Amino acid sequence: MSLTDPVVHDIVLVGGGGAGIRAAIAAVEADPKLTVAMVSKVYPMRSHTVSAEGGAAGVVKTENDSFDLHAFDTIKGSDFISDQDAVEAFVKEAPRELLQLEHWGCPWSRDPDGRVATRTFGGMSTPRTLFAADKTGFHMLHALFQTSLKYDRIVRYDEQFVTSLIVHDGAVRGVTAIDLHSGKLLPIYGRAVIICTGGAGKVFPFTTNASIKTGDGMAMAYRAGVPLKDMEFVQYHPTGLPGTGILITEASRAEGGYLFNKEGDRFLSNYVPTKMELGPRDLLSRAIIEEMEAGRAFEGKHGQYVHLDLTHLGEKKINERLPFVRELATKYVGIDPVKQPIPIRPVVHYCMGGIDTDINGATPLRGLYAAGEVACVSINGANRLGSNSLTECLVFGAWAGKHAAQYVRQGGSDSSPAPESIARDEWARIERTYLQDHKNGERIATIRHEMQDAMEKGCGVYRNGETIQAARDKLLTLRERYGRISIDDRNRVFNTDLTAAIELDFMLDIALAMAEGALRRTESRGAHQRRDHKGRNDQQFLTHTIAHRTEDGPRLEYRPATITRWQPEERKY
Ligand SMILES: Cc1cc2nc3c(=O)[nH]c(=O)nc-3n(C[C@H](O)[C@H](O)[C@H](O)COP(=O)(O)OP(=O)(O)OC[C@H]3O[C@@H](n4cnc5c(N)ncnc54)[C@H](O)[C@@H]3O)c2cc1C
Repeated sequence: MSLTDPVVHDIVLVGGGGAGIRAAIAAVEADPKLTVAMVSKVYPMRSHTVSAEGGAAGVVKTENDSFDLHAFDTIKGSDFISDQDAVEAFVKEAPRELLQLEHWGCPWSRDPDGRVATRTFGGMSTPRTLFAADKTGFHMLHALFQTSLKYDRIVRYDEQFVTSLIVHDGAVRGVTAIDLHSGKLLPIYGRAVIICTGGAGKVFPFTTNASIKTGDGMAMAYRAGVPLKDMEFVQYHPTGLPGTGILITEASRAEGGYLFNKEGDRFLSNYVPTKMELGPRDLLSRAIIEEMEAGRAFEGKHGQYVHLDLTHLGEKKINERLPFVRELATKYVGIDPVKQPIPIRPVVHYCMGGIDTDINGATPLRGLYAAGEVACVSINGANRLGSNSLTECLVFGAWAGKHAAQYVRQGGSDSSPAPESIARDEWARIERTYLQDHKNGERIATIRHEMQDAMEKGCGVYRNGETIQAARDKLLTLRERYGRISIDDRNRVFNTDLTAAIELDFMLDIALAMAEGALRRTESRGAHQRRDHKGRNDQQFLTHTIAHRTEDGPRLEYRPATITRWQPEERKY
């Protein structure tokens, strides 16, 4: 038998990263009786949150800062399509969450006077990013993980790969997961489900994202009828290492690093003169691409690049504030930043879009919540400001956990139990699609490479109608070819061939939603820049894109962004 006995909890939480663990703690703290299944395809400490480097934003020093300023920076950074009510709520809650994390053991770096240190991130008007050297995500996730261990009502299901949501009678009732150790399907029932599965950078070939970031939760919700929001907005980070895509954190510019082209110019003076290296990511990435197109970038074996120079900061400061940058540059490109500039180029980093949720993390499907990078509330709009994401995981993770607990206390989704046939059917589908003999079928690696290539060509830093259309058409043929895949490994134990195939299935849906959103948004805003439709069109597109899944591809609707106090203005830095 390929199904194991089901397990039942009050809340099923998918994801053990920053948002997931924060949600789990909030849920058990909100109600002393309920239990939470925390399901993750890797050990929680291996979630992508662990690799965050630069820091987490929040107004903790009020001399030169205020909630309004943090809100305005975020809204301007978003190119005015974040929801301003959500941003206002977010900035007010952020300091409390950051302080609490310190009480849970996060070792924030300090100023000489003992107060927490802050650095200025791109697009922020003042230093408001807390950090733990340049290993912030590691320390934050550690503090969260060790705190979660205090609660025996958080029951971990590590290395369980969730394949689908169990939906019955218009409400979510749990998930199905492949236990990677045994290869059997485990139904996990609950009265609410929270999705915290992170982003989907892996739909692109060149990304800072860990290979587990394949958009699984977005795709599962999408298939269960929940819309995806603003998927066309994909953030390129300006400073990735050529070849690997490993991130060189924005903290290196916050600490004083400069960008140079091959003519030795700090070229940003032509693009973002008032902010220079601390301009927002979308503008900096475009500036670098334009330098490349103008022939002012260096040529290397992995293509064109520009220089990030830290040499003037000195060894002491680099060792104290940027030890990880030094380690990464030395190990992966053989360059010691104390002595030489680091080669960098823009790299896919973050999904502004995601599962459509409200401020509480609730989705349109009864009992289903989402938080973290997988969700789109939206505070990030068309371009996220660096260091808002880790804080977003804390603030909205906590709210999703609390509201899911409240929903369960009020009865949850348990009017009639979900029929067992749902899990049996899911297993039958997996066996039929992947584990039966399909000789000489399509290779998953081939389809994945072609998908990533199509996305880079069609949905890169600059886009235009023709190339997006070509990408979308290609994705539709890949979707069809996917129906004929075969995988070689029929083993049950840690079958990564199987999980990679399922991840590719998820990614194809996500890529299509991104391309369709990009094609239909005939304007340029934030990270979405169309050469054939230059400039913002507030008349028509001060809206969120809402994508619904249909068999023929995404069906799009538009919903006005919420404006409270800040009217859209030209975005200049
Ligand atoms: C290199 C790097 C550096 C960054 N630096 C910063 C920074 O300095 N500041 C900042 O604000 N932001 C930063 N970011 C962004 C930020 O780190 C992420 O957006 C954030 O950590 C995402 O957290 P999350 O909890 O939403 O998801 P993740 O941490 O990605 O966790 C996702 C979880 O979901 C689980 N999961 C996924 N799919 C499944 C499935 N099918 N079944 C079971 N479990 C599943 C995974 O196992 C994992 O536990 C950085 C990102 C990167 C890539």
